[in-house]
Amino acid sequence: MFSLPVVRTEGGFKRTSCACELCSCYCKVMPGYLVPSDLAGLIPADADPLEWARTHLRASKGLQVVNRLTNEVVVSIPSLVPAKQENGHCHWLQPDGKCGVHASSPFGCAFFDQHMKEEEGERRTGYAQMVRSEAFEQNSLYATIWQTLNAEGLTGGGEYAQSQSYLRQVRERLARRQANKDRKRRRQEKKRRRKER
Ligand code: SF4
Repeated sequence: MFSLPVVRTEGGFKRTSCACELCSCYCKVMPGYLVPSDLAGLIPADADPLEWARTHLRASKGLQVVNRLTNEVVVSIPSLVPAKQENGHCHWLQPDGKCGVHASSPFGCAFFDQHMKEEEGERRTGYAQMVRSEAFEQNSLYATIWQTLNAEGLTGGGEYAQSQSYLRQVRERLARRQANKDRKRRRQEKKRRRKER
């Protein structure tokens, strides 16, 4: 595991820094969502926010809670997500596997990792839902961008199931790699002991 240290806090949470294979696998299937404050760090000062967003972001339905009896959406907290490359990778994922906007990467990337306790992940998710919800109530820039992209058909998101299956494959591959390493280490240890006799 290696780290990419950048000091950043949001809503009282500290950003994470792990860039191991497991933590970075979402960049290939489900880029992290933005919270409203991410826009200031990502949009260049001289850029038109809507023009910039058309290139870099997509409107996702985000959290949707459906009443199973009526099939009606009872809670909807949309989100802005990074656009994707043709291969499904995040628009900002570089050929060398690094994030092109690492210092200002979206909350959904920068404040989560795969080693975090579930409750901590839930607290952070809850915070993000709250600030996104407020952005729509206040009709802030975040909401304006989302509504514009959505109206223009520039939509994305909705890859949760696919991302979980990909995550499982990565976990299995890492477990196999670790098991091979352990076997090799045990064989070498055995060999060393034999030589010592
Ligand atoms: S913004 Fe960066 S960290 Fe987030 S998904 Fe894209 S490449 Fe990965």
